[in-house]
Amino acid sequence: MADIVVLGGGVAGLGLAAFAARRGHRVTLVERDGPPPEGGAHTEVADWERRGVPHARQGHALLGLGIGVLREECPEALAELTGRGAVAVPLETGGDDLGLLSRRLVFEAALRRRAAADPSVTLLHDRVTGLLSAGTPHGGPHVHGVRLAGGGDLAADVVLDATGRRSSVAAWLTAIGGAPPRETVQSCGFSYIAQEFALDAGGRFPSLRAPVVHELDFATVLAFPGDNGRFHMSTTVSSRDPVRTRLLDRSVYLRFLASVAPVRDWLDGATPVGDPMPMAGLENRRRSLVADGAPLVTGYALVGDACVQTNPTFGRGVSLALAHARTVADRLGRLDQAPPDWALETHEVTEQCLGLWFEQQVATDAARLAELAGGAHHDSLTARVLTALAVLREEDAHVRVVAERVYHMLLTPAELMRDRKVARRVLAFLREHPDLRREHVGPNRQDFERLVTG
Ligand SMILES: Cc1cc2nc3c(=O)[nH]c(=O)nc-3n(C[C@H](O)[C@H](O)[C@H](O)COP(=O)(O)OP(=O)(O)OC[C@H]3O[C@@H](n4cnc5c(N)ncnc54)[C@H](O)[C@@H]3O)c2cc1C
Repeated sequence: MADIVVLGGGVAGLGLAAFAARRGHRVTLVERDGPPPEGGAHTEVADWERRGVPHARQGHALLGLGIGVLREECPEALAELTGRGAVAVPLETGGDDLGLLSRRLVFEAALRRRAAADPSVTLLHDRVTGLLSAGTPHGGPHVHGVRLAGGGDLAADVVLDATGRRSSVAAWLTAIGGAPPRETVQSCGFSYIAQEFALDAGGRFPSLRAPVVHELDFATVLAFPGDNGRFHMSTTVSSRDPVRTRLLDRSVYLRFLASVAPVRDWLDGATPVGDPMPMAGLENRRRSLVADGAPLVTGYALVGDACVQTNPTFGRGVSLALAHARTVADRLGRLDQAPPDWALETHEVTEQCLGLWFEQQVATDAARLAELAGGAHHDSLTARVLTALAVLREEDAHVRVVAERVYHMLLTPAELMRDRKVARRVLAFLREHPDLRREHVGPNRQDFERLVTG
């Protein structure tokens, strides 16, 4: 049994705490924000102070990969969620895979209650301010604990940093004489605007697929069905769009949404809750603690968004965070290894779990950014394959099943192309449609500007 300190009680940290405890370890989780308020799902969303997660109230899709991990590792959390109004949705993957409709804070509150109920997990309400190092026995610093804002230190066999996309890892490592992580960063180039809605009594979601994505030639509109009849309508627009802040006016935002034909049936029979919520500074970012084949630090690993964050419009972050949490929890059984070996092997399994999805996201986004910037259309092969799948899935049941599995990250795009029947269909389709473009919906740019400035 090892003493594990987990930094951050978001999805990755809470998952990790529960999964590590299940494997027989003693866990102390340090989270800067307090617990969710009592009073049910709507109270959790309305009143939970989550300053540590500025995007906590944005619409979230919870894909098959993450829900699968939760079903295996923490079925009680899933049962509690469905008992509180989250909806488990069977996926068309040919298996018994599920997606889940739930607002992010409702989901997170259930994970937190689950972790708190485990006698091997201690939840500390405090803020981590730095790392404790035992010198540099292996080249880089060896971390053996953390420093807390509330005073005092916490010792650990290993420190797992799940403090999210704004992790202070670079400053913390530099402060103990180490090198900052190696980073790959690509700005997503857009900002998010999300509006929550409540279905009127007796209303139904037009689709249970999350998210439902509609692309305009200057924006993307997404519907995220959630728990208890609540849903979000989110829009991404270029961060440089001069009229983007107009969409923060609720009446303007509703007028814009009503102009996008395929989402109109979401608006009929629903009432807005609160005002549109902005979110900027979105990135694909990978942080690595290994450089030139050697660990930069030992006794310490990054988990979830602190390690890899991806474009939120693909709805992958929570699933990747939970899958990575499980991968790292599995590594805790090998803390008897020499610390540099543990660090390198943890890095390798992290690459297998997250690296491929990160690279695919960067390639897909580079193409979409070029398209938004100049109308140019240079999709990567992966992006073209995904577009072909979106068309072919409507016509072919076998393609539909594998496309669904890729969409929910239960199959990688490379594995998909090893299915010879699908590969033949996709490649023939791409040959027949060399200029394949996604269908764009909604008002054109001129009408949009008239609409939001009028
Ligand atoms: C606009 C937007 C929309 C998104 N939509 C989706 C979606 O539809 N589907 C999806 O799967 N993913 C989505 N994501 C991504 C998803 O939210 C993240 O991948 C997920 O939050 C990662 O969880 P995490 O635990 O790694 O980090 P976080 O959730 O950010 O949690 C980090 C935690 O660390 C705590 N913390 C930070 N610093 C300290 C400290 N010094 N001491 C103590 N505690 C600290 C914070 O309070 C927080 O609780 C979206 C992201 C954004 C920005």
